[in-house]
Amino acid sequence: MSPDELRRFAYEAADWIAEYLSTLDERPVFPETRPGALRDALPARAPEQGEDMDTILRDFRERIVPGINHWNHPAFFGYFAISASGPGILGEMLAAALNVNAMVWRSSPAATELEDVTTAWLRDLLGLPEPFEGVINDTASSSTLYALAAAREVAYPEQRSRGLFGLPTGRVYASEQAHSSVEKAVLTLGFGREGYRAIPTDGAFRMDVGTLRRAMVEDAAAGVRPVAVVATLGTTSAAALDPVREIGAVAREHGAWLHVDAAYGGPVAILPEMRPRFVGWEEADSVVVNPHKWLFTPIDCSVLFCRRPEALARAFSIVPEYLSSVEQSEARSLMDYGVSLGRRFRSLKLWFVLRYFGREGIVARLREHMHLARELADAVEAEEGWELAAPQELGLVTFRFAPAGVGAEERDDLNRFVMDRVNASGTAFLTHTELDGRVALRLSIGNLRTEARHVERTWSLLKSEADAARAGIASALDEA
Ligand SMILES: *Cc1c(COP(=O)(O)O)cnc(C)c1O
Repeated sequence: MSPDELRRFAYEAADWIAEYLSTLDERPVFPETRPGALRDALPARAPEQGEDMDTILRDFRERIVPGINHWNHPAFFGYFAISASGPGILGEMLAAALNVNAMVWRSSPAATELEDVTTAWLRDLLGLPEPFEGVINDTASSSTLYALAAAREVAYPEQRSRGLFGLPTGRVYASEQAHSSVEKAVLTLGFGREGYRAIPTDGAFRMDVGTLRRAMVEDAAAGVRPVAVVATLGTTSAAALDPVREIGAVAREHGAWLHVDAAYGGPVAILPEMRPRFVGWEEADSVVVNPHKWLFTPIDCSVLFCRRPEALARAFSIVPEYLSSVEQSEARSLMDYGVSLGRRFRSLKLWFVLRYFGREGIVARLREHMHLARELADAVEAEEGWELAAPQELGLVTFRFAPAGVGAEERDDLNRFVMDRVNASGTAFLTHTELDGRVALRLSIGNLRTEARHVERTWSLLKSEADAARAGIASALDEA
């Protein structure tokens, strides 16, 4: 592609991006599509001859975009709402242009050092102390896997040479509300299902520390090695914050590694008024925070902070001759802190985001999101026939339609039905979970472009769909 051609198409792409982001409101959030629709519409084989860029871009607009669930939409409230901010998008574009691979300092001096700088900036914004060193991974799932690999390294110093075979059982503890990535990491690391113990939670879905203590004492008596305890600050279903200080005290009594999963909730520690909820995480051995979740950075960008980076390196470092370099004693080799050798220049977009918004800009936006969530929670509580399924926390509202006189199973069906109707309308997008064994709807507010009107419109639609569904059931019962 000639420089002139590249320039022309880059302008065209930039125009499309600006137009797209400013007109998202007019699109359905979830597309009108079905499984297989795109696959059926595209050729089964790659083209023999190269195609021209105009055609490729046209197919992007006409075939790909209509199959997109718009995570950038202001009424995207599913999973955890995220946003690709302008500065984040620009950072991502430029990183693609540079195309450096930050394996070791020599392979990309600036990408290596910018990762040092941005993760230190973020660490300070979050109020985590100096000994924590940050590395950027693709996802929290990888970050947690690496943290637990370091914990395994500490609990089983002998395993690097002989593996875990024949060694005493090891166990990782997390709450029943912990993210599935924790159990996935435990399975990947060879501890098996028995190596994972899910601790029950209290009425607000926070880990019950008394039960954790008893479980660890019981396991120690049975000869089980305590490997790690994972506390979650911002659980997936309810955004609950585990009592991390008390959990840390129990973990330390047993010499277990403390990993904090703050993939979603972490950024909120930037708010001074929220900092008390995080007390104790500064004592952790590792903490994961995802800027690609609630910090306006395009996917993917997950920061793993580790207080014992040497344990991470012991778990992962292998330096073959072809990767050795004279600077390896003076600068970090980022390849030493995880499975990946090749690493994208992810710190560039994070640097753009942190500079563009500044601490004040980030604080203002996170406060606004939490305010919108609180207002919706108040409205739900005030509405007859509706209830919160969990105490409202952070930017998440977990709730359900629970009209009197409708059985539990039927309520579950009703809530799924109402959610499907709202999603099919294209007005908003929500997802659900299960709390106390019952279906709950989740509305997550975390997109930069979300305003009160988007939340209000969605709440009105939920209520009218629920009333319509209820009336339908009532008339069906009358007929029966
Ligand atoms: C989203 C989330 C994860 C998984 O994040 P990925 O980056 O998609 O792997 C893990 N833990 C918590 C608490 C989360 O919210």
